[in-house]
Amino acid sequence: MFDLSKIWHFYDFLRKKEVSCHFVININTYLCALKFIAFMESLDQGNKVIDESKQGEATVLNTSVGDKKVYIESYGCQMNFSDSEIVASILQKEGYSTTKNIEEAELVFVNTCSIREKAEDTVRKRLKSFRKLKRNNKKLKVGVLGCMAERLKSKLLEEEKLVDLIVGPDAYRDLPSLLEEIDGGEKAINVLLSMEETYADIAPVRYGSNGVTAFVTIMRGCDNMCTFCVVPFTRGRERSRDTESILEEVRQLSEQGYKEVTLLGQNVDSYLWYGGGPKKHFKNLSEIEKASSINFAQLLKKVAEVDSTVRVRFFTSNPQDMTNEVFEVMASKENICNFIHLPFQSGSDRILDLMNRGYTVEKYKERIDKIKEILPDCAISHDIISGFCSETEEDHQATLELMDYVTFDYGYMFNYSERPNTYAAKKLTDDVPEDVKKRRLAEIIQRQREHSFIRNKSYVGNTYKVLVETVSKKSEEEFLGRNSQNAAIIFPKEDAKLGDYVHVLVEDCNSATLKGRIVSKA
Ligand code: SAM
Repeated sequence: MFDLSKIWHFYDFLRKKEVSCHFVININTYLCALKFIAFMESLDQGNKVIDESKQGEATVLNTSVGDKKVYIESYGCQMNFSDSEIVASILQKEGYSTTKNIEEAELVFVNTCSIREKAEDTVRKRLKSFRKLKRNNKKLKVGVLGCMAERLKSKLLEEEKLVDLIVGPDAYRDLPSLLEEIDGGEKAINVLLSMEETYADIAPVRYGSNGVTAFVTIMRGCDNMCTFCVVPFTRGRERSRDTESILEEVRQLSEQGYKEVTLLGQNVDSYLWYGGGPKKHFKNLSEIEKASSINFAQLLKKVAEVDSTVRVRFFTSNPQDMTNEVFEVMASKENICNFIHLPFQSGSDRILDLMNRGYTVEKYKERIDKIKEILPDCAISHDIISGFCSETEEDHQATLELMDYVTFDYGYMFNYSERPNTYAAKKLTDDVPEDVKKRRLAEIIQRQREHSFIRNKSYVGNTYKVLVETVSKKSEEEFLGRNSQNAAIIFPKEDAKLGDYVHVLVEDCNSATLKGRIVSKA
């Protein structure tokens, strides 16, 4: 039997030591320690949205093309992991194979996240750990990709001397020429943001390691300008990807045997394909041009019709853009999963207004009521930011009340982290004391644990169609699969295979996991 308290003590010890290379023996031990911390933090925070256990995971394509090796490590949201696959695809054409072993790479890329200060701190620490690698391999080049590259631009080259290359999220096509530049010993940078880039033609970009579930990016950037958020500055203006290229990618995934696609975007409900270009230009089109555009509900239906045996999920949704049409399409297609991730951030109208979220608590509740009316079995998850500028105890209580109103299945819960150059950083004061933020977040997490347990208990005794996704991390004898509601269920393998649909009877649960057994093939 494991002594859980010893594991927590070890975790605390590592955190306090700030897990440095002096403390661990080599880079692989260091990596394991970081992953262990990330995993424990995910338990600590009840945070499932950004999969903490995947932070720092290397992107590895299942094809090997050349002698040159690139190691790509990704942090942050799923969009980043998806982008790393685009980068890997571009590099494949340059003769690079991906590797999981950082020590054999001649090119090390870190695809970064800027959403909270902590995400950037993690990357900074990681970069420091490359010093030894660089000392041992004089040819090694280090590149920083993604949101942190975009936010800090050349400043990052000045601050992190070992970095050779900085590439923003819209500049990955330029990688071949940037690599030539750094080959000649120069530093290189491209952080130009684009109004059009969607990497639509870089296909197939998806090589999921389990061969069962895949992410498909349908849009890039964000126009919402939430006052706390760095995304519009790091990922640029909102633009949608050509519908046909999305459908083609889904067709290819289906032919390759994938059984689930998740459509990705900062605000998928705002998807609008009208021939290309930024969303903000849509209003300038003629009525005839507007009429031939494709919105998210129409795209969702088309994706679901590619192959009825391929499940479809999507995230993230935004309350002000989510239409009844989307709920109706979901209700009409068995293979669109009954799951909606609908961030609300705060239960106080005053705070929502300060955040520039574009909806009120009333409007959010109205969306929830509509989901429950049209999709009674739909699971709902959330994002909450606790301790935003000027948040009072009353505002905090309002957040807990909204949680009680919905009883979310799970959620992603964060303390407010001020991000440079956002409206909030410039015009508002980050005035909630750190200990108050922590206490409020702890209360929110505790409330969510209670709700997750209620939701999980409601699954016990019922049978669900489950897609077998992966072998359970805890036992080789068990599979992990998810039902349509996105609840993870662990069950003995029996004679099922990865990618099978099976009917699983849920027999037991805690607030995080469901346990069951296969009762029949689906
Ligand atoms: N586009 C989605 C939206 O705004 O609803 C998700 C965007 S963001 C990548 C994911 C989540 O990170 C947000 O929903 C928010 O809860 C959190 N987040 C964003 N900026 C933050 C900040 N400055 N401090 C703390 N959490 C933040």
